[in-house]
Amino acid sequence: MPKRRITILGSTGSIGTQGLEVIEKNKDKFEVIGLSAGKNVELLAKQINQFSPKIVAIADEESATKLGKLIDSSKVEILIGPDSSAQIVENTCDVVLNGITGAAGLPATIAVLKTGAKLALANKESLVIGGKLVLDLAKQDQIIPVDSEHSALAQCSRGEEKSQIKKLILTASGGPFRGKTREELKNVTLEQTLKHPTWSMGQVVTINSATLMNKGLEVIEAHLLFGIAFNDIEVVVHPQSIVHSMVEFVDGSTMAQASPPSMKLPIALALSWPDRLVGISPAIDWTSSSNWTFESLDEEVFPALAVARKAGEHAGSAPAVMNAANEECVKAFIERKISFLSIVEIVNKVLELHIKSNDFVSNQDLTLEKLLNCDKNSRISATKFIEEVRV
Ligand code: NDP
Repeated sequence: MPKRRITILGSTGSIGTQGLEVIEKNKDKFEVIGLSAGKNVELLAKQINQFSPKIVAIADEESATKLGKLIDSSKVEILIGPDSSAQIVENTCDVVLNGITGAAGLPATIAVLKTGAKLALANKESLVIGGKLVLDLAKQDQIIPVDSEHSALAQCSRGEEKSQIKKLILTASGGPFRGKTREELKNVTLEQTLKHPTWSMGQVVTINSATLMNKGLEVIEAHLLFGIAFNDIEVVVHPQSIVHSMVEFVDGSTMAQASPPSMKLPIALALSWPDRLVGISPAIDWTSSSNWTFESLDEEVFPALAVARKAGEHAGSAPAVMNAANEECVKAFIERKISFLSIVEIVNKVLELHIKSNDFVSNQDLTLEKLLNCDKNSRISATKFIEEVRV
C-alpha cells in the first residue's frame, strides 16, 4: 500500500486518539497532514508536536489563542472557527477520519466527499442527518465505515452481490441497563449511564448506547450505507461485544465478523481499506472457553429503536430532526435537567410533531439549507419540552 496522507477530525476524542495510535505504530504507511479539534488545546498541542501536521483546525478563537501559546505557530497553518474542520479537508489528502461528535460533523463530511478523498466515517450523525444529500455526493466505496457494526457488515459483504443479501443483523451490547425494567430506569443517574460494560467511548455516544438511540442511528446508517430496507435490518443483543454484526444471505448462510472489542481494528481497516494492517489488536483466544450469547432486545423498555426506524422510514428531514432533538436531550441529561427516560420520550414527541407539520421536507425536496433549518427548529422544540419536564 503506498503511503497515505491522513487528516483526522476530532483528533482529541476517543476515535481521534485511537486513530493516531494506529498511525504512530504504522509510520511507514501513513503521514498525518491535518488535525482538527474542539477545545482540548493541550492535547492538540502535544499531537502537533508529535505528528507535525501541515495544517490544524480549531473550533473557536479563544481555544486558538491558547493553542498559539503552546506551539511554534511558524511551523503549522492554523484555521479557526466553526467551519474550520470543513475547510481543512480541502488540503489534499487520501483519507479523512471524521471523529467529530454530532451534527457538527456534517459540513466536514460533505466537504470531504466533494474533494474525492476517502471518508473513514465514525461521525455516523452526519450520514444519518444528511441522508440522501450525503449519499448523492459519495462515489462508489468513498465512505468507509468506522462504526464496528458497519465495519463488520462491510467485511462480511465484501465481494458479495447485493441481491445475495437477505438481512443485516446488527449486534448491540445492550448497554449498562440491559435487563432492567422501565420502573428501574426512572431514576438512573448520569454516572450509572456512563458506565458502559464493554466499550470506552466519548460521553455522548456512551449515553446514546445506554438509551439504545445509538443503535437507532446505526440502523439508519446501515440502511443508507448498504441499501437494505428497514424491515431487513435486525438488532440482536450480544452482551460480550465480540461478534460485531452479521450478514444473512438468501441461501440461509450467515457471515459474522468477530474480534475482542477494540475500536482500533475498524479504525485501522478504514484507514488502510481494503488492506489489513498487521497486529492491530489481539485476536480471539480459542484456547480458553468463553460464552457468546444472543438475546432479543426489549423494545418496550428501550423504544429508541422504534423511534429511529420511524425517522428513517420517513427519511427527508426526519432523521435530522430526531438527531438534533436527541443531542439537546442528551445535553440536558448531562446537565441533570431531565431524567434518563425523558431523553427518548422528548425525542419522540419532537419527531412526531415534525412529521405531521408543514416543516417536514421529503427526500425529493431536501437541501442543506432546509436540513439545517429543521435541525435548528428541532432544537428549539426539544428545549421547550425539556423546560416542561425539568427536574
Ligand atoms: P469524543 O467526545 O471522545 O470526541 C469528539 C471529538 O470531536 C473531540 O476531538 C472534540 O474536540 C471534537 N469536536 C467536538 N465538537 C467539535 C467541533 N465543533 N469542531 C471540531 N471538533 C469538534 O467522541 P468519540 O470519539 O467517542 O465519538 C466521535 C464520533 O465517533 C461520534 O459520532 C460517535 O458516535 C462515533 N463513534 C465513536 C465510537 C467510540 O468508540 N468512541 C465508536 C463508534 C462510533 P475537543 O475534545 O477538543 O473539544
